Amino acid sequence: MSSKIAVLAGDGIGVEIIAEAVKVIQCLQQDFGLAAELEYAAIGGAGYDQYGKPLPDETLAICEQADAILFGAIGGPEYEDLQRELRPEKGLLNLRSALSLFSNLRPAILYPQLADASSLKSELVAGLDIMIVRELTGGIYFGQPRGIRELENGEREGFNTLVYAEHEIERIARSAFDIAMLRNRKLCSVDKANVLEVSELWREVLTRVAGEYPQVELSHMYVDNASMQLVRAPKQFDVIVTTNLFGDILSDTAAMLTGSIGMLPSASLDKNGKGLYEPVHGSAPDIAGKGIANPLATILSLAMMLRYSLQQAELAQQIETAVGNVLNQGFRTADIAEGEHTVSTADMGDAVVAALRASAK
Ligand code: NAD
Repeated sequence: MSSKIAVLAGDGIGVEIIAEAVKVIQCLQQDFGLAAELEYAAIGGAGYDQYGKPLPDETLAICEQADAILFGAIGGPEYEDLQRELRPEKGLLNLRSALSLFSNLRPAILYPQLADASSLKSELVAGLDIMIVRELTGGIYFGQPRGIRELENGEREGFNTLVYAEHEIERIARSAFDIAMLRNRKLCSVDKANVLEVSELWREVLTRVAGEYPQVELSHMYVDNASMQLVRAPKQFDVIVTTNLFGDILSDTAAMLTGSIGMLPSASLDKNGKGLYEPVHGSAPDIAGKGIANPLATILSLAMMLRYSLQQAELAQQIETAVGNVLNQGFRTADIAEGEHTVSTADMGDAVVAALRASAK
């Protein structure tokens, strides 16, 4: 049966990197027998430009019917003055919410070929393989009430609400324990239970769910310590589970351990394994249109899609191997180059396709 993949390029470099991932899909269709139909739709600034809103109804309908969604990036300076509801970021937040994509998987893997690109000493990061599981549809990014109000003295105050219901904590805990079971069975839950009541509940629920997973070793860590440990001794972690806000920040720190944000894929899953797959980085307006963005995070996101939503683990592995091979061959986009010859976005995509084709023969 053919899988339906919704393809949402978005803005900025989103368009350029998605084009390379589509080349890889076409190669899988032609040479590896992948049965998949692609359906393109507008999101973010592109959605606003075409339909007047960042998540057009047509786009949501296409995503609802798809088995998986391949997403580029959204945002750009030209949209910053729009009212909040119309900004590109709202398109992605609403899509995650509408599809109940509550579990965000962000692997931080350091390819041995890029160990020198990390800002840390290579012995601290060589062989790094962490999975950060970030709660994605709750917490302070969605909590009500929120806003900016005027006080009696005329001063304005901004406010947001950090709220987690028990069922939200339970389902992200299960998702993280399930992933830990497939890995080294070590789960570290990151919170701020020394200050926040919501974290106290988070910790209590995590500890309760741990009872269902006796093979997994659960530990707890405060977020300030976790951010320190991630740069001090990152290899102590296997799987980290945390809230939306903390996960947003910690996963970017983990990203830099690997040298480039341009190498990091991510997945956001619902409870049935349907997912949205996107690079961790944004639309990079500073390099958009120059043809120099690294497409590997997006291509690796496609590999995650094949593994987690399309049950094609072997094809996923083949893409990951092809990426390793092009790095071995010395292909580098500017963000991961250390004085080597650099290649364009399109050259990097072509190199991955060539490596895949070579493995099909
Ligand atoms: P960013 O990730 O777009 O860029 C940060 C830095 O990393 C920039 O210097 C950029 O050139 C570089 N970079 C990012 N991706 C790269 C790639 N593939 N190859 C080479 N270099 C790369 O973050 P930002 O600059 O803070 O945000 C820019 C816009 O993206 C904003 O509008 C923001 O809201 C949006 N954003 C979107 C997402 C998303 O779509 N999921 C995520 C983060 C930020």
